Amino acid sequence: MYQELQKGWLEVICGPMFAGKSEELIRRVKTLTYAHQKIIAFKPAIDNRYDKTAIASHDGEKYQAYAVRNTQEIDDLVTPDVQVVAIDEVQFFGDPIVDLVEKFADRGIRVIVAGLDTDFRGEPFGPMPVLLARAEFVTKLTAACTVCGCAATRTQRLVNGEPANYDDPVIQVGAKESYEARCRKHHIVPGKPKNN
Ligand SMILES: [Zn+2]
Repeated sequence: MYQELQKGWLEVICGPMFAGKSEELIRRVKTLTYAHQKIIAFKPAIDNRYDKTAIASHDGEKYQAYAVRNTQEIDDLVTPDVQVVAIDEVQFFGDPIVDLVEKFADRGIRVIVAGLDTDFRGEPFGPMPVLLARAEFVTKLTAACTVCGCAATRTQRLVNGEPANYDDPVIQVGAKESYEARCRKHHIVPGKPKNN
């Protein structure tokens, strides 16, 4: 890229689980830390895995982040001197996140967000399609399919070891749930319209 950029844009890092989205977000944020940029990072408060106050990746890399419950809390914490806003698990913030990150980018802020582009059913996840369309830069990462080892672009949800049904509720009390990265061929969603 040899063109000059006006200040302020949106970049999206997406892909399935286990693709290294958080690692990539942390890598970009750390690089900007060395460039002495004023950075603020966020993640949804519902995600409690590994660390309550850090964006944590599966390989143990960490970066301090505010755990917030909604977009209003993000808006309140981004002061006029902020140059970079990073948001992990952005798919959980819902549609209001779109207008907020656009507002930040318009203000001259570099906005870096990471999230799941599709849910366990293989459907576009919440605000992600719109974020991807509005972004200046998109990075789509892949994981390794747990069945064949090829590039995985989907997240397989398993309930008690079996592929979750398209209509299964998001939270199933008492069920043992797990997730795997899968390729298109091995992503199995019983009951998915036009898929069987
Ligand atoms: Zn596969």
